[in-house]
Amino acid sequence: MARYTGPVCKLCRREGTKLFLKGDRCHSDRCAIEKRNYPPGEHGRSRFSRRSNYRVQLREKQKLRRMYQVLERQFRNYFKRAAKMKGVTGENLLRLLESRLDNMVFRMGFAPSRATARQLILHNHFEVNGRKVNIPSFKVTPGDRVSLREKSKNLLVTEEALKAYGSRGTVPYVSVDVSKKEGTYIEEPTRDVIPVPIEMNLIVELYSK
Ligand code: SF4
Repeated sequence: MARYTGPVCKLCRREGTKLFLKGDRCHSDRCAIEKRNYPPGEHGRSRFSRRSNYRVQLREKQKLRRMYQVLERQFRNYFKRAAKMKGVTGENLLRLLESRLDNMVFRMGFAPSRATARQLILHNHFEVNGRKVNIPSFKVTPGDRVSLREKSKNLLVTEEALKAYGSRGTVPYVSVDVSKKEGTYIEEPTRDVIPVPIEMNLIVELYSK
């Protein structure tokens, strides 16, 4: 399956919630959900009349997958790994998604959205513990340092994003040194501190059928 390259606001409207795919716009009154909170398309307003259990579970899974911008096959692989780990599968899945490098770059405030973070990583702007990494799905582990490479320290997009760091909401499991343009993944988060309003049990039920 190819990566989705269409209008991302449609994805939020399809799911009926903000997925925060567009950076600063998502926090402004220009957000499409604020103006048209119904599914896109000619019959959008009448689409969600019947909601079976399956449909509710499926939509929850799609929301999470789209939030982290992960393809279906990758997502399923994350689920399989989460199910094999000790602990609660849903929480494990969320932690695995949170530990992706593109998510870390976003959480540390280097990019206004995960899509921009992904782009910056692919263009070789980041290093982890001093070594260049250009794989958005790279797994960051607690204690790892994520920083901009020397040649990329003055990038306008990261400067702007770091200026707004804090106004978009921070998480307690990363720390950021804005002057050094460097962040640290402190510890694996517990479910209650991950700001993702998804009912993970519905996703576990969907994949456990
Ligand atoms: Fe979703 Fe952001 Fe578009 Fe709003 S502006 S609909 S949150 S992508």
